Amino acid sequence: MPLLVMKFGGTSVADLDRIENAARKVKREVERGYDVIVIVSAMSGKTNELVGWVEATSPLYDAREYDAVVASGENVTAGLMALRLQEMDVPARSWQGWQVPINTTSAHGAARFVSIPRDNIDQKFAEGFKVAVVAGFQGLSHEGRVTTLGRGGSDTTAVAFAAAFGAERCDIYTDVDGVYTTDPRISSKARKLDRIAFEEMLELASLGAKVLQTRSVELAMRYNVRLRVLSSFEDTDENSGTLVSGEEEIMESKVVSGVAYSRDEAKITLFTIEDRPGVASAIFGTLADAGVNVDMIVQNISEKDYDAAHPGAVTDMTFSCPVNQVPRAQKAIEDAMAAGKIQYDELIIDTDVAKVSVVGIGMRSHAGVAARMFAALSAENINIKVISTSEIKISVLIDRKYMELAVQALHDAFELERA
Ligand code: ASP
Ligand code: MG
Repeated sequence: MPLLVMKFGGTSVADLDRIENAARKVKREVERGYDVIVIVSAMSGKTNELVGWVEATSPLYDAREYDAVVASGENVTAGLMALRLQEMDVPARSWQGWQVPINTTSAHGAARFVSIPRDNIDQKFAEGFKVAVVAGFQGLSHEGRVTTLGRGGSDTTAVAFAAAFGAERCDIYTDVDGVYTTDPRISSKARKLDRIAFEEMLELASLGAKVLQTRSVELAMRYNVRLRVLSSFEDTDENSGTLVSGEEEIMESKVVSGVAYSRDEAKITLFTIEDRPGVASAIFGTLADAGVNVDMIVQNISEKDYDAAHPGAVTDMTFSCPVNQVPRAQKAIEDAMAAGKIQYDELIIDTDVAKVSVVGIGMRSHAGVAARMFAALSAENINIKVISTSEIKISVLIDRKYMELAVQALHDAFELERA
């Protein structure tokens, strides 16, 4: 039997009517001849409520009990979905994580998969069940305790099952109809992509296109699981949504596939630091110890090259981090300065920047992408403060007030409204 994994997020199972709507989509795939593993999230808002109850009861809670409480949201939806399918004459049963078992590490609240043995579910398919409804987001530690995977983890459960069971595809049903070239709230010309490569999706996901949990895309890439993002609120067929897949399935791609942004960035410069071995390590070691997520890093070229015999060269170091981490970063740097671990003349902090990036696997084989990007920004008189590049991405930091304008200008410049 060919097998499909279908995952329904919180908004897709938010109430009994929506569960029924999702169940109809499952039934249709069964009628097409698939065995189906359904992965469900908790009803929308439920996980937040459960987390709130835990925190109200015990501020320094025992993480094992947190997981016991928070995993329960998915158990409710799994049971209800199985019941609804049975009412539609589809042979279905629910599975909690421990029943499969979904073996994970013991890192409560952030557990990782260890193994998903197929035997129990395969056995039930062999007995005539057509659907296994599995509670997402949860697992079992080797100590026999319930674990959870971290917020948004049901996407990752779905991909892990698709890999373990060799599913033809992993369909992620959500409240949007796919992955877009950019945020449609910023550019009315944003277009839904039919296909996107894993690596592009990873860049877009971590840059703020919050459709899929980043870990799920990493896992899909590692095991080459074809992922499809589609709406549970529309009539869909096998061509709906966006297919996230390996590059080999993407025949021809544009140079740039999407424009991503991240609004709340900050830029921090340590002005006049010594240019010698160990300085960068001291600065970023300090920041790492303080838990600051450093993103872009730029070091100026010094006037003279480093020379151990004649020290004295200086340079400047700039980095970006999320704006809400600035107080922590500032304190760590100032404390390290006071302790003599690092030295600088001045600390300059700019909390009014945003990051805008163009992403595309086509960049690997095309020259001139950066030039085109910078020309589009300059035509709008937008000043670029920091630039960083990777094989498939170019990012710039700009004043936050120009972020929307920059996204629109880049979307136009790379003609993303056209397929
Ligand atoms: N219910 C969990 C959460 O809200 C997991 C998920 O829905 O993916 O984070
Ligand atoms: Mg989600």
